Amino acid sequence: MTSTMSSPQNISQSEQRLNINISDRVLTWFDQHGRKDLPWQKDINPYRVWVSEIMLQQTQVTTVIAYFERFMDELPTIEDLAVADDDLVMHLWTGLGYYTRARNLHKSAKLVCSEYSGVFPSTVETLCELPGIGRSTAGAIVSIAFKQPAAILDGNVKRVLARHNAIDGWPGKTPVLNTLWQYAESFSPDQRVADYSQAMMDLGATLCTRSKPSCSLCPLEQDCLANAEGTQTDYPGKKPKKVLPVKSTQMLIIKNPEGEFLLEKRPNSGIWGGLWTFPQIDSDQSPTDYSLDRLKQTPNAIDHQQAYRHTFSHYHLDITPVIIELNKSPAVIMEGQSQLWYNSKQPPAIGLATPTKKLISKYSQ
Ligand code: SF4
Repeated sequence: MTSTMSSPQNISQSEQRLNINISDRVLTWFDQHGRKDLPWQKDINPYRVWVSEIMLQQTQVTTVIAYFERFMDELPTIEDLAVADDDLVMHLWTGLGYYTRARNLHKSAKLVCSEYSGVFPSTVETLCELPGIGRSTAGAIVSIAFKQPAAILDGNVKRVLARHNAIDGWPGKTPVLNTLWQYAESFSPDQRVADYSQAMMDLGATLCTRSKPSCSLCPLEQDCLANAEGTQTDYPGKKPKKVLPVKSTQMLIIKNPEGEFLLEKRPNSGIWGGLWTFPQIDSDQSPTDYSLDRLKQTPNAIDHQQAYRHTFSHYHLDITPVIIELNKSPAVIMEGQSQLWYNSKQPPAIGLATPTKKLISKYSQ
């Protein structure tokens, strides 16, 4: 792939005029075709913009809508989020994945309430000091909620800019990311900054899509380098593939005579941090020994199920579900607050790891 990329540090006067023209074209397209009825585009305030931006990371708009509405129904203000129970926050996030986002959201809400009296900081620099808020999310909050000039560069905007300017390389690499930021800043207008931020995200989500961009409908078609070269899907560059290690575990689906499942709360750090999961043992450990040791009884039945693979960003986890049916609920393991019996007919408001949620629904009969 040959790069015809120009350096934004050397933007000539004619290119600067072109840039003004770019934001005009994007805004005109937005006025005619952009989405304006998404739930976070109503009653705009920094809290709503922030929550929506964090939810939209790695997640499609169509998925986020229901989560956002439920979150705002339960926790309509930053004060509500700051004082919410951890389990409720994780419960509202269950199914969205990337749970660090929820934990950081909660931490940042507490900080904004304790350090800033509940008033959101309004500069990119100060916002970036809060857990989980990066430069693009800060830019979205500043431009959309405070209507001040600030560039954004979420996944959708990266794709648009990488294609429009034929920027080679994976955006996870700092030089590539820096180049994308330079373009993002040079194209951002001083006027209608909120609409421009929304428009660029919308353009990436609806026209400049991953596999089949609709270039003939795009306001950037005339000067898009990838479109001219027919190389749209070469941009942005892909993350270099690496072979992931494989780990294995047995997930113990312990059922009491009432049909409830024993769940444990994970520590806040590490995988599934702060979420509730089935107890786990190593693949070479015996579920019978676990039952005798921890549950103080011989189970009615132990049934090994077909193993399946769950993949994290840094390793594969081969999970063998093992159903353990008990004669009675063992009171001895119910000390402390990190275990509970989960009744799927009256589910408590807690956060569940994705495999836990799937296994509960599979074995709840
Ligand atoms: S012309 Fe096509 S590839 Fe270029 S920005 Fe528009 S949709 Fe994306």
